[in-house]
Amino acid sequence: MQVQEIPHVAILPTPGMGHLIPIVELAKRLACHHNFLVTLLIPTDGSPIKPQKAVLEALPNSISSIFLTPVSLDDLPVDVAIETRISLTLTRSLPALRDSLKVLTESTRLVVLVVDLFGTDAFDVAKEFGVPSYLFYSTTAMDLSLIFYLPELDETYSCEYRDLPEPVKLPGCVPIHGTDLEDPIQDRKSEAYKGMLQMAKQYPLAAGIMVNSFLDLEPGCFKALMEGKEGRPPVYPVGPLVQSSSDHGVYDSECLRWLDKQPNNSVLFVSFGSGGTLSREQLHELASGLEMSGQRFLWVVRSPHEKAANANYFSVQSIKDPSPFLPEGFLERTRGVGLVVPSWAPQVQILKHASTGGFLTHCGWNSTLESIVHGVPLIAWPLYAEQRMNSVLLADDLKVASRVKVNGNGLVGHKDIANYARGVIEGEEGKLLRSKMKEVKNAAERAFSEDGSSAKSLAEVAQIWKSTHKD
Ligand code: UDP
Repeated sequence: MQVQEIPHVAILPTPGMGHLIPIVELAKRLACHHNFLVTLLIPTDGSPIKPQKAVLEALPNSISSIFLTPVSLDDLPVDVAIETRISLTLTRSLPALRDSLKVLTESTRLVVLVVDLFGTDAFDVAKEFGVPSYLFYSTTAMDLSLIFYLPELDETYSCEYRDLPEPVKLPGCVPIHGTDLEDPIQDRKSEAYKGMLQMAKQYPLAAGIMVNSFLDLEPGCFKALMEGKEGRPPVYPVGPLVQSSSDHGVYDSECLRWLDKQPNNSVLFVSFGSGGTLSREQLHELASGLEMSGQRFLWVVRSPHEKAANANYFSVQSIKDPSPFLPEGFLERTRGVGLVVPSWAPQVQILKHASTGGFLTHCGWNSTLESIVHGVPLIAWPLYAEQRMNSVLLADDLKVASRVKVNGNGLVGHKDIANYARGVIEGEEGKLLRSKMKEVKNAAERAFSEDGSSAKSLAEVAQIWKSTHKD
């Protein structure tokens, strides 16, 4: 069989739009700026969801995508941790991955397998074909630092980290309370925690780690990570990799038409990412708070869930009519001032729009980077995964967000919500956050300018991949 000469990159994204979107952006950079052919090998436990299809259908010709044979997760308990579910989808896809890599190595010049943060079990399969594995870390350098530091934390402390009297000081990072550390390490007896420790042992086996963040955003943390420690792979800041507003079709242009009619910087965009869900009571508080604030808002509403804050992670469920979940008469009373969109909205186009003046976000890392790239100040309302850590970085370190407080009933109250909304859109605090965000936005632009730090890092990685194969 004739082998293609163009260097080929295989990429393995784990489930979730928040993982697929940045990895697709990485693929585009590699294809369009560094002339690689790219194949996305996508593990799944079912058929693709609509937003997934939209992202994949818009790929340029040099990037192909293949869904690996769907795996069954029917044997898992309903309340299994999301991280365990993601990891198992990947582990059960390894035979299909092996088949695909066999075909790719026989027919193309495959130079590397890139996996994301949950994909480390694939390293061994790549090794069978003599292909090096790189990790694409789709969240912060601070979170990566936590993973590297976890075995040491595990040995040093016997209590739960949330009970530590002092904040944890990760090298070069803002101090962080144990309660704000990411979800899977909050219960040290859980499978998810064991999974994280296992990942911490596997990360050093990567040939390199690319991080979707940039030097000027987390200078201290990157410095500590890049200084190099024995047994730790080189770390490359390659962000912000975010989807651009022109990438794919508009799902619901009604909200953009509505934004066109609002004054500049006047609208609070409210969204909890691809999977975030609130309880019924919290949904009511949020609705009442938005109404009470008197501010314009654009709110992506999902049906409530009483237990899991990430109930929609695997499905991005599509409700047609959110009104049964909202306070009676809310939609009528806020007509004209607010717009409610069920399930999914064209977030990047919304953040880019001149009328959007603030973003109430769950602090998913893609949402955060998209807000940074468009200079929109934040109200940080973290829900799950590493989002509390992100909110600490945004509020305490970068000062581009105000963070919501949860009251004694475990809720963010409507009066507080009204204050946050007013504060960010028309208050003095909003002005400070916006001006800080502008500085960060400028730094993000510099990172991908011709001689910018992320552009250089990615070029370095590309060069390594192209030359490694020749030897
Ligand atoms: N997103 C979107 N419309 C929505 C919700 C989410 O386009 O209504 C996109 C958003 O722009 C981002 C991604 O989905 O790129 C969500 O990723 P993030 O890391 O913010 O959160 P996750 O969904 O992983 O919790």
